[in-house]
Amino acid sequence: MRSTMMDAPLQVSRILGHGASVHGSAEVVTWTGGEPRRMSYAEVGRTAARLAHALRDECGVTGDERVATFLWNNTEHLVAYFAVPSMGAVLHTLNIRLSPDQVAYIADHAADHVVLVDSTLIPLLARSIGAMTTVRHVVVVGGGDPAPLVAAAGDRIAVHHWDALLADQPEVYDWPEVDERDAAALCYTSGTTGDPKGVAYSHRSIYLHSVQICLPEAFGLGPTDRELAIVPMFHAMSWGLPYAAFLSGASLVMPDRFLQAAPIAEMIAAERPTLAGAVPTIWTDLLAYLDTHDVDVSSLREVIVGGSACPPALMHAFAERHGIDVIHAWGMTETSPLGSVARPPAGATGEAAWRYRYTQGRVPAGVAARIVGPAGEPLPADGASVGELEVRGPWVTARYVGDDAPDAEKFRAGWLRTGDVGTLSPDGFITLTDRAKDVIKSGGEWISSVELENTLMAHPAVLEACVVGVPDPRWDERPLATVVVHEGATVTAEELRDFLAGRVARWQVPERWAFVDAVPRTSVGKFDKKVVRSRYADGGLDVRELSAP
Ligand code: AMP
Repeated sequence: MRSTMMDAPLQVSRILGHGASVHGSAEVVTWTGGEPRRMSYAEVGRTAARLAHALRDECGVTGDERVATFLWNNTEHLVAYFAVPSMGAVLHTLNIRLSPDQVAYIADHAADHVVLVDSTLIPLLARSIGAMTTVRHVVVVGGGDPAPLVAAAGDRIAVHHWDALLADQPEVYDWPEVDERDAAALCYTSGTTGDPKGVAYSHRSIYLHSVQICLPEAFGLGPTDRELAIVPMFHAMSWGLPYAAFLSGASLVMPDRFLQAAPIAEMIAAERPTLAGAVPTIWTDLLAYLDTHDVDVSSLREVIVGGSACPPALMHAFAERHGIDVIHAWGMTETSPLGSVARPPAGATGEAAWRYRYTQGRVPAGVAARIVGPAGEPLPADGASVGELEVRGPWVTARYVGDDAPDAEKFRAGWLRTGDVGTLSPDGFITLTDRAKDVIKSGGEWISSVELENTLMAHPAVLEACVVGVPDPRWDERPLATVVVHEGATVTAEELRDFLAGRVARWQVPERWAFVDAVPRTSVGKFDKKVVRSRYADGGLDVRELSAP
């Protein structure tokens, strides 16, 4: 029996239409360093229509052409997030922190036709635009001089200015009905090894994912919320926050290029967000700032932390010193990105609740998860069996852009192989111990680099700790700890070794220690363990070797 239900496609233009009308008075605020810029969602709707007209009539976007963004998190980026998919084209968020070669590779791979660029990023884009063979139009947002782009690309590209391009366009666009399974947006993985791989989100997957983001088991967004979206819009769609905001009526606060702790603290005090999302390093920096400056952050009920493992010490520090709940979440570009959120189940209180909060979180109905052994054999979801995490669901990618078939390295029998290693509990909580490629195998036993890092970061003198496996003649591999010490604090390697020895199995305690000024980061702000390993191999680290504790 077929259902009697209407078959209304789930499409991005529906989210836009809803937010711009029902929640028309909600606003997006963009930080400028001076007076913030404000635009209501109703005005975002009208501006999206004007952009769509301009893209169609002035840039020749008539089908599923790719329209790339090379922008900070701001109003114009939000407008593009809605206008491009709603008109039936495909939004491609370029990661401004990748090398020029990688940016050019990705733009070519995606066959980008237009690039929207922030004027502060013109010099950066100029370094790759010459090698982008498919781009024909560049739209400059802001008042910068586009001469470097023209010099690099010649008359192959037409340069437009956002304000002039949109000035006389109609404020209404007849958004077409699209196939909900068609691509709406494109994101490339940050790929620390090999070429970046593209994931094409569908209208349907974005819609379903946005609904999930709004649920209480995820971020619980509603019309009284103000969401500070620090996680870049070029990284995994800013965790879906822009779309979820329009769906729920939550206002958005966008940091633009002001990503240091001081302006973020200022934004929080002035714009009073209730929620915020960013990778752990942003929160580590902010915590150090809040500990030494008197800032009113009382508006924040929660901050969502994901992208890399959140150290428990960070959660406790925010809760105890600033009354803010840090909520841990896990996801990937390949999973839209929401995979799991760590909210304790009913009945868990005190220490038990904290133990749930340390995990990567519980999977929602839309994400099925399993743990598999080395040959791909499913292992029990018993919270103890350790293996690779595999997931599947309607907002998980089934292959990469340009591949005819799923890449066997990344997909297995309809499951996405996440490359993350850990356990799954009977009640659906994931606990990750490592990336498969970062696992440390010492004398045949696994050591969790994440556990060592989290334990070290609980030491009051330690700002950051990054642990990698390095070759060892006796044990094959042993952990090397690289540590960043808080400004003004002092601690010795011996003290840290003894601190660890009381908290983890003694055989796991590293012998090799290096104090560094900063841990190298990937393009999306995670510890770049590949660089740490190669610095060690090249003798670029000042390593002390200690005896066992
Ligand atoms: P990306 O596609 O760049 O967002 O990277 C996804 C990867 O980030 C995952 O496969 C994990 O290795 C890592 N990751 C994301 N969230 C977490 C988390 N909460 N804890 C540990 N690793 C995480």
